[in-house]
Amino acid sequence: MPADQVPQFRTYRHARCQQETIVAGQSFEVVSNPMSSMERTFCTPCGAMFPIEEFAWVDSGETISDYYARHSASATPLQRTLCSKSFMVALIAVAAVATSIGTSTLVANNDLFTRIMIAAGGFLIGAFIGMAIFLSGFANPIKRQVCGVEDTRRLT
Ligand SMILES: [Zn+2]
Repeated sequence: MPADQVPQFRTYRHARCQQETIVAGQSFEVVSNPMSSMERTFCTPCGAMFPIEEFAWVDSGETISDYYARHSASATPLQRTLCSKSFMVALIAVAAVATSIGTSTLVANNDLFTRIMIAAGGFLIGAFIGMAIFLSGFANPIKRQVCGVEDTRRLT
């Protein structure tokens, strides 16, 4: 399938209210990803988050929890850990602290204000680096390997 045929949205129905919600854009990328470790998603008519077991794709009738289980069946425990939110948070924290320490060391002879500002800037830059490492080094390649697609919006 060419890139221009990636679906742009999908609709799911909430069992509790029987109403439909359309997901598109970045929410669709996250919800469609079986390795995203999502446990709850948003119901627009209810205006709240509910467990993914309560939602089913309208086109297939499959619950989102079954869809996740089916498409992530081949994932090893290590792959699941490396894609998890806790690993993402840990990686971001380590990168942020390390960059913050590294940058403040470079300006160790400056006044306190400069050192604090540089350390804070280093922390933010490190957090972005950590997020980039998580996505390009772990989450995206593992997702491709486990789900067999570049873009999980193509999964049905
Ligand atoms: Zn609802």
